[in-house]
Amino acid sequence: MIRLVLLGGPGSGKGTQADVLKEKYKAVKLSTGDLLRGEIRNDSELGKQAKSFMDKGELVPDSVMIGILDKITADFEAKKQGYILDGFPRTVPQAKALLEMLDKQGVTLSMALLIDVPEEELVRRLSSRWTCKDCSSTVGYPDGKPEGAVCRQCGGELYQRDDDKRETILNRMDVYKKNTQPLISFFEEKALLQQIDGLGTFEEISGRIIDLFNKKEIK
Ligand code: AMP
Repeated sequence: MIRLVLLGGPGSGKGTQADVLKEKYKAVKLSTGDLLRGEIRNDSELGKQAKSFMDKGELVPDSVMIGILDKITADFEAKKQGYILDGFPRTVPQAKALLEMLDKQGVTLSMALLIDVPEEELVRRLSSRWTCKDCSSTVGYPDGKPEGAVCRQCGGELYQRDDDKRETILNRMDVYKKNTQPLISFFEEKALLQQIDGLGTFEEISGRIIDLFNKKEIK
C-alpha cells in the first residue's frame, strides 16, 4: 500500500502527477489545498479560519493543520487504502506530526518525492495557471486563456485562483523557501527523500516517477 508525500514548489505539478499516480496505484489523492478550498466554499468554521491566510498566500497555522491530520490519514488506514499527500506536510512540525502518527499506526511512509522545478519556471507556470471550478484540474495558458476555453477533463468553468495572482505568487514562493524547503533535508536525514527532475512534458515526468517507483519496488 502506497503512502506517499509529494514535495515541490507551488506549480511544480504535484497535483497533476498525483492524479495519474492515484489511478495507477489505486490510491486516494489528498490535497490539503483542495480540502481547504472546499471548506471555504461550505463556509465552515475551518474554512473561515483558513481563508485569510490562503488569500495572502500564507500558510494556515500548524495548529490548525495538525488538528486535521486525523482526517488526512486515519480513514485511509482503516480502509487499507493507499494515499498520496499533495500539499501536506508544508512545514517541519507538520512532517514530524505525520511521521509520529504513522509510527503510532505501526506503518511507514513509502517515500517523500520532490518534483524539482527551478523558481523562475514555477512563477511562469503559476501566472498562467487556470483551475477548473468543478474538478480542480489545472491548465496553463502562457499567452492568455483563449476565449471560451473550458476544462479539458470535465468541461467545467475555468478560473484563476486568487492566490495565483502575481503578488501572491511571489509571497507563496517566499513562504515555500522559508517553510517547505527545510522539509527536503528533514526527509533526507530520515532516508525517505527521492527526487526527480520536474522539467519536461507531463508524460516525461510521470514516466520518471513510475520508473523510480518500479526501481524502489513501490506497488
Ligand atoms: P495548494 O492548493 O496546495 O497550493 O494550497 C493553497 C493554500 O492552502 C496554501 O497557499 C496555504 O495557504 C493553504 N495550505 C494548503 N496545505 C497547507 C498545509 N499543509 N499547511 C498550511 N497551509 C496549507
